Amino acid sequence: MSSAWLNLAYLTASMLFIVAFKQMAHPRTAVRGNVLGAAGMAIAMIAAFFEYPLVFSRATEGHGGTVAIVLALALGSAIGALIAVKAPMTSMPQMVALLNGFGGAASLLVAGAELQIAVGRASRPDAYGQMIIATAATGIIGAVTFWGSLAAFAKLQEYEQFKKPWAFAGRQAAAGGLALLTLLLAWWLVASPGAWYAYWLLVIVASALGVLLTMPIGGADMPVVICLLNSYSGIAAAASGFVIDNNVLVIAGSLVGASGIILCQIMCKAMNRSLTNVLFGGLGSEAAAGPSADDVYAGKVKSAGPDEIAMLFDSARRVVIVPGYGLAVAQAQHAVRDMANLLQSKGIEVLYAIHPVAGRMPGHMNVLLAEANVPYDLMREMDDINPLFPETDVAIVLGANDVVNPVARTDPKSPIAGMPILNVDQARSVVVVKRSLSPGFAGIPNPLFAADNTQMYFADGKKAVLDLIAAIKAA
Ligand code: NDP
Repeated sequence: MSSAWLNLAYLTASMLFIVAFKQMAHPRTAVRGNVLGAAGMAIAMIAAFFEYPLVFSRATEGHGGTVAIVLALALGSAIGALIAVKAPMTSMPQMVALLNGFGGAASLLVAGAELQIAVGRASRPDAYGQMIIATAATGIIGAVTFWGSLAAFAKLQEYEQFKKPWAFAGRQAAAGGLALLTLLLAWWLVASPGAWYAYWLLVIVASALGVLLTMPIGGADMPVVICLLNSYSGIAAAASGFVIDNNVLVIAGSLVGASGIILCQIMCKAMNRSLTNVLFGGLGSEAAAGPSADDVYAGKVKSAGPDEIAMLFDSARRVVIVPGYGLAVAQAQHAVRDMANLLQSKGIEVLYAIHPVAGRMPGHMNVLLAEANVPYDLMREMDDINPLFPETDVAIVLGANDVVNPVARTDPKSPIAGMPILNVDQARSVVVVKRSLSPGFAGIPNPLFAADNTQMYFADGKKAVLDLIAAIKAA
């Protein structure tokens, strides 16, 4: 393929990425955006494959590399397809974290391989210069992304050892020391580009830094970290684009990097945190032990079944549904929509309250409810819905916990301190649907469950809503 065709293919892929991003900004066009993005990626991969004789032959001096590329493509595609088919919808957040990490790892390997080629051909005039700086940057950001994403994956997967934020005295000093060491290694690499081992040392130290930066973060701060790692994976890809002189990689990486940073800013605002505070403050890790579950709940929790709860709707004029992570686990979105339709048919106004960090990934609740064709105009952001709670007859909290925990307002030492919450406790009646009194992601008890105006409805989210629908119809 001539370089003119290659450039045209890369330009087309870049344009598809940009249009895809625009379309993904709205739930109505998001699926089409995804397809366009995937098409762009396919074009970029095919073009890169045809560019191979121009680029890769200098490393392999033959066609042995073609076989390796085809094998790698087939293996990667098979693993990707298997994960996509097998992984349940509820594991999407963990999968996204893993994929971010793989992006970082791929970038650092590409930069490392290119460095080895350049070192082997030290006489090549274009071997060093801009390329070596981009190589160092790719190594640092790629390694931090990969290991940071693995730590985030373990936290989202709620592995016991990773659940609690990892705190030890002097962690900030240790992180500072590792950051300084990576910069020194980067300087060594740039000053003497033949020292390829400086690159791999830099990758090892940056890997430790990635783990150390992510492990102490927990509680309400995880969404910000996930957006940040997403952004890092883009920046690493863009930097590796400079290493191998590939424009489409620079463009696609910059798009991901910039959008990740924007999302990070939105999340920080939603959580009432600054980025520095999340990364270096360790708010989640320094939380003092609050009251125990026994102190909060003993003798105060009232539970009810579907028939008693159905009676609450007899005189209700406004009902607000508050979805959380449990809605995703229970896959109750379609049942919830049916319940909302039923209540609306009785002349009750039904709204959905969306907290920006509800669930386990940005936009999680919007995606779930859109999948069940819940009208967008019924989904209200936190700032719009909070003033309506005092005039709400029934708030139904469905699998949400941290995002409705009043402790965020009252206990400055709690891991969710300062996080704006949905003020469901101000509604006349609150119904909380969950399976037990176990805590949410932040791991703390929730006094809402013991409030005078709250009734707990202990059941799996989907079964609870289906039984409630039957009870409302029978009433
Ligand atoms: P939480 O994690 O606080 O609570 C979810 C609740 O759902 C649990 O208490 C659980 O209780 C209940 N649940 C689980 N399965 C079911 C089921 N099948 N049926 C009914 N209930 C169920 O969720 P929230 O959405 O309120 O808050 C999100 C939390 O996750 C925040 O702390 C946020 O910081 C964090 N986070 C968010 C990310 C994001 O990007 N949005 C990313 C990473 C973390 P039980 O077991 O008793 O049923």
